[in-house]
Amino acid sequence: MATKIAVVGSTNWDISLKLPRIPRPKETVAGGVSQFSLGGKGANQAVAAAKAGAEVLFVSALGDDGVAQQVRAQLGQLGMSLEGLITIPQTNTGTALIFVDEQGENCIGVADGANAGLTSDHISSVAGLMTNTSHTLIQLEIPMPTVVAAAQAAKAAGSQVILNPAPAAAVDSALLAYSDIVTPNQVEMEQIIGFKINDANDMQKAAAVLLKKGPQVVIVTLGGDGVFVASQTETFTAPGFHVPVMDTTGAGDVFNGSLAVALSEGAALRDAVQFGCAAAALSVGRAGAMSSVPNRAEIQALLA
Ligand code: ATP
Repeated sequence: MATKIAVVGSTNWDISLKLPRIPRPKETVAGGVSQFSLGGKGANQAVAAAKAGAEVLFVSALGDDGVAQQVRAQLGQLGMSLEGLITIPQTNTGTALIFVDEQGENCIGVADGANAGLTSDHISSVAGLMTNTSHTLIQLEIPMPTVVAAAQAAKAAGSQVILNPAPAAAVDSALLAYSDIVTPNQVEMEQIIGFKINDANDMQKAAAVLLKKGPQVVIVTLGGDGVFVASQTETFTAPGFHVPVMDTTGAGDVFNGSLAVALSEGAALRDAVQFGCAAAALSVGRAGAMSSVPNRAEIQALLA
């Protein structure tokens, strides 16, 4: 039977326009091709976890618009529980508007919409559902007090908290105290510990600082260089998989979603990290964020 994990975070509706060039102020550029996709770190990680084989409780806020219906339908098709989705009245679902030019350069605007309306009260209303989850995965695209409430509720429910502190932000000590595993990229790690990481020695020091603040495990993702892992008992690096790179967007989300699944299944830390790296490597070999998420069979085939 699939293990159950909770993902608490953002949902966006991504509108991408591929254009001959990115418009300047007051300019209209025609000749584009549009694409619509489910996005946001919360939704990306929830989908990655579901495709990697877990039963997922996704806690997220949607607007009361037509987009929300499409989001619900897509999540439902993946077999995800919709019980944790909350509708914020008279609000639009979070939206990202992405212009991409022919060289692949992009510029992105985000309207938080319903994501900004996800509150601690909403977390309380779904906290009972967290009791049968082994792990809860949380990011920082929802209000910080809600992030803290989610970590606290997960902890109280006996669910291990995995904090992906992205996008980079200052993280308060209460949140770190509730977190069992923290998974920043290097920029996010520097933001949390407050100094620049220039070499492996700095990385060790940074991890030691973070481990003193509560978490038992720190996993720093390093793009194509894989990950650095430090726990109370071991330190190691995993080099990642060498793959032809097409689009690294969302690699971190795929890594986190699949890592959570492997941990929920009781995998050892090294094996769980390998599982996450394999899933993320598959995603960078394909275009898009949501559209590049691999399924469990594909991850297992790369690991075989
Ligand atoms: P994003 O913000 O784009 O989602 P991130 O900064 O959160 O990414 P990264 O450290 O870039 O996260 O990537 C996460 C993981 O994805 C890495 O630890 C690695 O396992 C895998 N990965 C990323 N880039 C590559 C690559 N070029 N080749 C192979 N694996 C990669």
